[in-house]
Amino acid sequence: MDSDILVSRTPTAMAAQGATGYLTIDLAALGRNYQTLASMLAPVRAGAVVKADAYGLGAERVAATLFGEGCRHFFVAQFVEAVRLRPALAREAQIFVLNGLQPGNEIACAEMGIVPVLNSLAQWRQWSETARILQRCLPAVLQFDTGMSRLGFPPEERAALAAALRNGTNVEILFIMSHLASADDIESGQNGEQFAEMSRIADEFPGFDISFANSGGVLLGDAYHGVLARPGIALYGGAPNTGEKNPMEPVVSLDVAVVQTRAVPAGAKVGYGGAHVTLGEMRLATIAAGYADGLQRSLSDRGAVYFKGIRLPIVGRVSMDSVTIDISALPEGVLTLGSLVEVLGPNQTLEDIAGDAGTISYEILTGLGDRYHRQYR
Ligand SMILES: *Cc1c(COP(=O)(O)O)cnc(C)c1O
Repeated sequence: MDSDILVSRTPTAMAAQGATGYLTIDLAALGRNYQTLASMLAPVRAGAVVKADAYGLGAERVAATLFGEGCRHFFVAQFVEAVRLRPALAREAQIFVLNGLQPGNEIACAEMGIVPVLNSLAQWRQWSETARILQRCLPAVLQFDTGMSRLGFPPEERAALAAALRNGTNVEILFIMSHLASADDIESGQNGEQFAEMSRIADEFPGFDISFANSGGVLLGDAYHGVLARPGIALYGGAPNTGEKNPMEPVVSLDVAVVQTRAVPAGAKVGYGGAHVTLGEMRLATIAAGYADGLQRSLSDRGAVYFKGIRLPIVGRVSMDSVTIDISALPEGVLTLGSLVEVLGPNQTLEDIAGDAGTISYEILTGLGDRYHRQYR
């Protein structure tokens, strides 16, 4: 018996051999995207939004890579994400919780040195009370709603907040921020409206640094940059602005294995519901990823995968664990059990597949699931 074989049988090693899909994350490209954004922003600092496991790419690896590129400001959405990320980053790295805190996790947040974004008077009061109990000055960021009606102090809470600040507080405001609702659309009038509202807020709360731009906002120009930008999708290769040339490098590629191939006659039903009936003879392959792996069901009979640059359309409904594709464009026998087809790569961008699925790159990335073998380059 060969003990080396046994030793190599870690789950990771086993999954790598004969994996049904390979999700490749190019950390060097991630680093270059960070530098591209940093140079567009300089001297303004570029932070990084690493919420939802860095848009599905692995928050720890992504954040450590960006730290190496000089990033010191990391934004997550939820406290639990900050708790997971904190040990992976050096002390100089600050972690901000965009949604702020739920009642009950303030003490843990303070003890871990995590910075909440306060979005309302209710969150302000909780954090002030925590500072009082701990008899310490605690840091925070204030987020204002400038027209998205999602998170942040609404206009009617601003006077009370200003009064609380005037009365003295042991909450240290690191900066104030807001979020753009339409930054992906350079032409949108909402950008200017939110900018004007943010200018009013800056007048009401003078002396604070401002953070405003997400990825799309970086490309809206200097006026939107404040002192610290919060790009997310652009770091991961997504297009910051729809309809414009994407200045970012792709970071993710996805290759999925063929499970089975077959030839079918005209009139064959393909997939659930028999929703697709073949018009002529064709050859099909079933690949080992489905909607549970982020190939959304809306891709049924829409969109494609690629093999050596040849488009292989999706046929019939997307199943939970598999998708059937038309391989008639390839010579017989080219694809067999274990062959890999490209879902994301040189022939198909995130935006391409998102367009076919009727969604956005963000939802594709965050939905990719954990059954693929992940490899970091
Ligand atoms: C998600 C998010 C971002 C990052 O947005 P991208 O469009 O991915 O760059 C920035 N700020 C806030 C408040 C967010 O919620």
